[in-house]
Amino acid sequence: MTKRILVVEDNDLNRKLFCDVLQAGGFSVEPVADGNLAIEAARAFTPNLVVMDIQLQDVSGLDLISILKHDADLCEVPVLAVTAYAGKGDEQRIRESGAEGYLAKPVSIGPFMAAVRGLVDGAPKAVAS
Ligand code: MN
Repeated sequence: MTKRILVVEDNDLNRKLFCDVLQAGGFSVEPVADGNLAIEAARAFTPNLVVMDIQLQDVSGLDLISILKHDADLCEVPVLAVTAYAGKGDEQRIRESGAEGYLAKPVSIGPFMAAVRGLVDGAPKAVAS
């Protein structure tokens, strides 16, 4: 079954890039440009993963992640945070918000898809030794 990914990103070029790459990778994507609509969209789309830009208009991606992680219906959905600012402590703050994954912009396609697949597929299976 096709996995669904919600892409919350206010930058038009980045949003299109993420969506194009994910669709090429066989995912069904739902783009969200306005962070205010992200939670509503997550409820409607029931994604297998949320890609969340941290720097949005009006709202903080960190706050949106926190809302998702405190929502009984959405808390199990993994979140991959992307941020332009990878300053000291940023990764810590993002992890504390509840995001399972984190990438600093500019995001390269290889690491992006690896992170996406890792989160969509869940915990790595034990490897027989
Ligand atoms: Mn942004």
